[in-house]
Amino acid sequence: MEAYDVLVVGAGVGGLAAASLLAKEGMKTLVVEAGDRVGGRALSLRGEELREKGTGWYRRLLAAQYCWLAHASPSLEDMAAGGLLDGYTLDLGYHGVSLAGEGYFAVLRDLIGGYGTHPVVIKPFLTGSWLDGEFYREPPLSRNTEVDEKLQAELDRLGAHYLDFFGNFLAMAPHEFEELDRVSLHHHLEKIGFHRSKALYDYFRCVSTLITTINNPHEISIGDILRYAAQVIAPAILKGGDVYVGGFTEGGMMAWPEAVAARFLDFGGELRLNARLLSVETAEGRVQGAVLRSEGGEERIACRRLVFNPPVQELLGYLGEGVFPDAFARRISSLYGYGSVSPYMGLSRLPVPEEHAKRLMKTPCVVPRSQGFDWDVYMAWNIQSYIDPACAPSGKHLFTAYLPLTEAESKNREMVMRVVRAVPDFLEKVYPGFRDCVEWELYPVCTRLEGVAKSITQAGSLKPDVIVPGVEGLYLAGDTARGYGVAMDCACSSGILCASAITGRDYGME
Ligand SMILES: Cc1cc2nc3c(=O)[nH]c(=O)nc-3n(C[C@H](O)[C@H](O)[C@H](O)COP(=O)(O)OP(=O)(O)OC[C@H]3O[C@@H](n4cnc5c(N)ncnc54)[C@H](O)[C@@H]3O)c2cc1C
Repeated sequence: MEAYDVLVVGAGVGGLAAASLLAKEGMKTLVVEAGDRVGGRALSLRGEELREKGTGWYRRLLAAQYCWLAHASPSLEDMAAGGLLDGYTLDLGYHGVSLAGEGYFAVLRDLIGGYGTHPVVIKPFLTGSWLDGEFYREPPLSRNTEVDEKLQAELDRLGAHYLDFFGNFLAMAPHEFEELDRVSLHHHLEKIGFHRSKALYDYFRCVSTLITTINNPHEISIGDILRYAAQVIAPAILKGGDVYVGGFTEGGMMAWPEAVAARFLDFGGELRLNARLLSVETAEGRVQGAVLRSEGGEERIACRRLVFNPPVQELLGYLGEGVFPDAFARRISSLYGYGSVSPYMGLSRLPVPEEHAKRLMKTPCVVPRSQGFDWDVYMAWNIQSYIDPACAPSGKHLFTAYLPLTEAESKNREMVMRVVRAVPDFLEKVYPGFRDCVEWELYPVCTRLEGVAKSITQAGSLKPDVIVPGVEGLYLAGDTARGYGVAMDCACSSGILCASAITGRDYGME
């Protein structure tokens, strides 16, 4: 029986971040990934793959990452047969990279000594908002950032300052952020008086929904937003130069996990794709090994440490509730979820002004809550191909977007279809003629984004720790475990925290 120091289950962002650091420390590390590629929910596919591998393959790929396809036009079968997606690269979902890769991704990059022979180029985008039929310009963040003049007029009217939103965040101690994890955006805006301006309220709701993937301002936790501003954004600004809120990975999101996986292999790690964890073996309260299934059949491997990268709720399926303290088992089985509709559209030409095409645009309401939703459904959108031309065939454009939903909404076909219909209607209204250039549309829906969604009962310090209680040698790495920042960045920071818990090394994360 093969023996390893550490088995990492899952080659998502969190699993790869942990694995690369563990292998770098000289630990004999095996990563097993159930899918046919690395990246987990941060994967990309080439459009040709739909034609070559078929529609069943595509639907299975989505399902393995907690997604389903709500709508395709023309039908998925016609798209595959006609090679309509050829030349496009589709990230699973939206996959704007936080702070254009200069957040926790940069921390990991430096810890593993760069990306070696797999360069990762993250192309930054600006941001903007579309509030009540008006465009609000957002310059890159810098020491001299000027607020949009319409927002500034509102701030002047209230006798307030933009930075009031952040309070005394640079001087806050960790426990103060932890207290803020339980405070809602709505409460915070009321406290600082910004609720007295609709434009300011909508604007900060848009910024906060972008960071937290939650529509409802009563549910959005302010703690992680301010922690991210203090720990990641402010230091970047203080270094000088412009700081961008996000960016797209050139050639598709998967360049990042592929590069980190390559570093892992450089450090002597072993990666097996199409290999699935079946069960974890424990004795006397500690990990002893695991049973895997791959093309070669079932296999038992010995390991004293196991890092679990899939969403934490799934842990119970591999070990059973009995081995964990009651409070932990109850906590992880009661996590409540979020989801998102993440449309793609292939466009025959650029249908929006260049001033918008160079930005991630956001708006507070594409579907009003009066249509049965928990809150007004927000949308963030990009012409991804304007930022990264490599993601669309020459002369064509790729529109990508995301609209957060609650988990229940994301599993309700009728509600999802309301969103699907509203997206092109909204775009046609803002950009007349938009519909005429749409050559194809795809609407995948993700139902498992609770790790990404920063709610007042589940964000930041309220997440399960990377060290699992009750079973020695069992660790978590991924967006549902403790970690900070936005979505993939959060999964990455969690992987770094996990590696630190195993090696005892201080990676400067706490
Ligand atoms: C539609 C959509 C849009 C998104 N948009 C953005 C965005 O714009 N920006 C952003 O930052 N984030 C975005 N996210 C969120 C981001 O993708 C996730 O937060 C992040 O990728 C999660 O990484 P992870 O490491 O926690 O887990 P995962 O990516 O879930 O990785 C877990 C891995 O474990 C594997 N696995 C599961 N079970 C087993 C098993 N039994 N054996 C072996 N392997 C197993 C899975 O195949 C997977 O590869 C989006 C997600 C989706 C779905």
